[in-house]
Amino acid sequence: MTTENIISSALEHGFTAAVPLKPESIDCKTQVRDMCEACKAYNTTWICPPACGSIEQCSERVLSYPRGVIVQTTGQLEDELDGEGMMEAGRVHGENLKVFYKFLRDSFKGDELLALCAGGCGRCAKCTYPDEPCRFPDEQTSSMEAYGMLIAEVCKDNNVPYYYGKGTITYVSCYLFR
Ligand code: SF4
Repeated sequence: MTTENIISSALEHGFTAAVPLKPESIDCKTQVRDMCEACKAYNTTWICPPACGSIEQCSERVLSYPRGVIVQTTGQLEDELDGEGMMEAGRVHGENLKVFYKFLRDSFKGDELLALCAGGCGRCAKCTYPDEPCRFPDEQTSSMEAYGMLIAEVCKDNNVPYYYGKGTITYVSCYLFR
């Protein structure tokens, strides 16, 4: 599937923006990864640090892909304190990601596809980590932050806005392909 086709399909799947991502533009930063240690999901699932690999391993994995796509879902807020609006936009982005990932998996098998989304896993009521392997390795999606990515920087370096103006919120994820 060409990158152009992936972008068209992403927009058909509900994302409000989808643009090509240059993997070589991604700088996996130790400082971003370090912030994961303050998160309650740290060291609790296979998709979070430290289980998702060292920052060097994540960087090497990202750079092994020749192409990618950034996807965004922008929601409208009633005001800057509209928590319900923020949660609703996050829910829509999560649903878009889930359905689109399933769609992509028909064309890209195993490590031909790497999805980097947002937040923790939550796929199982209780993660098997660290005693047993992941139950759904083909559905695993680490977060862009776990890979040390600064979202605003990744967007800027790939010529797509991150901020769409007052009264909006934008969720960002990416897919890498080989
Ligand atoms: S899919 Fe299940 S077992 Fe795998 S990382 Fe997520 S919660 Fe853990």
